[in-house]
Amino acid sequence: MGVQVKAMKKTCKKKNTLVSIPTELLVEIVARVAASSFDDLFNTKFSCRTLNKFADVNDKYISKRVSLDKFHVVPWTSKTSNQHIVFLDRCIDSGNPEALYRHGIVQYFGKAEINSGIECLRRAANSGHLEATFVIGLILILHGGEDKERGMKIIINMKKLQPRKKIAEIRERFSRTLKSMWVKNTALIGKARPICCTTHRRANSTFHMWKRFADLECEACYCDQEIIHLWEILPKSI
Ligand SMILES: [Zn+2]
Repeated sequence: MGVQVKAMKKTCKKKNTLVSIPTELLVEIVARVAASSFDDLFNTKFSCRTLNKFADVNDKYISKRVSLDKFHVVPWTSKTSNQHIVFLDRCIDSGNPEALYRHGIVQYFGKAEINSGIECLRRAANSGHLEATFVIGLILILHGGEDKERGMKIIINMKKLQPRKKIAEIRERFSRTLKSMWVKNTALIGKARPICCTTHRRANSTFHMWKRFADLECEACYCDQEIIHLWEILPKSI
């Protein structure tokens, strides 16, 4: 049980001082607990009567903020319980960025539902979800034409604004997600890899791993490396 929840439970037992706290503040406290851990939200619900009514996963504000860390990234399988699916759907409806991101990935790569996948990813990205922004950048590059230019700008901006370690984490987490699901988007599988840099030959070859994502001076080459990495994860056939 988290430290926050233990402290709140103790407060409840001693004297119900929580009733003197404005409702908005209590809701905010519970929402922050939910954002750090789903289990802590659950414990909060049973810690005392006052908090019970606020720690409700059906509440839109709570479901928008609740952490999904304890749930599998790709839960929409035959083994997933209905209760679980209803909860995740509620999080999506509430605009929970992580839920939108996960759903967007499944829709786009797993079900080839291109428009709804991108829409979910956009909503997540607009809420500040960096992985969603990264994936949208890659997807736009894959789409080619003007979209490719826009996608490259997104990837290059992320490289400029985020520490290298952060980008590596984002890339790694996206890779793990993609490897854990069945990619069935036939618009990607078996197709030629798009090329961003037409100036440097190196961008079009798979040079050694240790050189990748190093300080590539050419921004287009950097985008190509991201696409090469994605291409190695995507299945070659269904
Ligand atoms: Zn280049």
